[in-house]
Amino acid sequence: MRKVRASMGTLGVLGLELVQMDTPPTTAYLQIYTEERCKANCLFCAQAKDSRAGLTHIARGMYVPADLDAVVSRLKMAYEKGYIRRACIQTALYDKWWEDTVYLIKRIRAENHIPISLSVFPLADAKYNELKNSGVNEIVIPLDACTPALFDKIKGQSAGGPYSWERHLDGIKRAARFFKSAGTHLIIGLGETDEDAVKIIDELHGYNVNTALFSYTYVPGAQLVLEPDKEESIRHYRTVQLARYLILEEISAYPDMRFTDGALCDFGAKRDVILRIIEDGTAFQTSGCPECNRPMANETFSMIYNFPRKLKDDEVASVKKELRLGWC
Ligand code: SF4
Repeated sequence: MRKVRASMGTLGVLGLELVQMDTPPTTAYLQIYTEERCKANCLFCAQAKDSRAGLTHIARGMYVPADLDAVVSRLKMAYEKGYIRRACIQTALYDKWWEDTVYLIKRIRAENHIPISLSVFPLADAKYNELKNSGVNEIVIPLDACTPALFDKIKGQSAGGPYSWERHLDGIKRAARFFKSAGTHLIIGLGETDEDAVKIIDELHGYNVNTALFSYTYVPGAQLVLEPDKEESIRHYRTVQLARYLILEEISAYPDMRFTDGALCDFGAKRDVILRIIEDGTAFQTSGCPECNRPMANETFSMIYNFPRKLKDDEVASVKKELRLGWC
């Protein structure tokens, strides 16, 4: 393997591309290089076997092929200088994925103590063990959908894919026993309610699993085309971000919260506490592994779902409006 895919922002920080950025990534976002399509068929994904999208896309991010030696050596310098504080590797399901993944991890680890996150599908315990011994610090198994029915429709059997909700959940729980830190990704905006999202985040937190939130993003050529109502989708996203923060900080939990027809109407915490959290803004920053800020992964210049840095005062004011709580 002589190449690796890297996000444009990552190549910018590594000095391998000239990229203008408001907020540079603090994590190096990498993907295993292959020209093959993934054997899975997640409907939102550009890489999926039946997708017609270009292989360079992950959500809104462009992952372009780069020279592996150059990326590995620049990554060492960027980590030592403090520009990059984590490496995140995305895999895909193709014949040589395991060899290529282990090779990339070992190449990075041979020169660098940088924390490594690996985003992968559920694996056998022996493979988790091998990954841990190779130097993976955080393992992330994206559930993507919030309910078993949505999972089946979007990335399971009904979508023509090999995955099942039960195997993913089992793989996540086992990973949480092997690694000090295990996580998952949820894509918000696939048709779930507030309650669906909050319930699974709370359940995963009970297994010691950190949920990172992504917003649904249309990728040209991908199989899934949703056109959600803009105001409702941002209300839903902000509500789930706030509820997630309350759950992970153990300020509230799913059983303390109240819902009307799936819409969250009571966060299960006092208003002054919630107001302080909203005004602090951390709940609306990018969630996931430590030092992961994913600038422009889902965002456009007019809509920021995950803030890659501290919120400014006018952004906190916008978030308050977007939440539509009626009292702040
Ligand atoms: S949360 Fe960030 S660093 Fe962790 S796997 Fe996801 S994208 Fe990578």
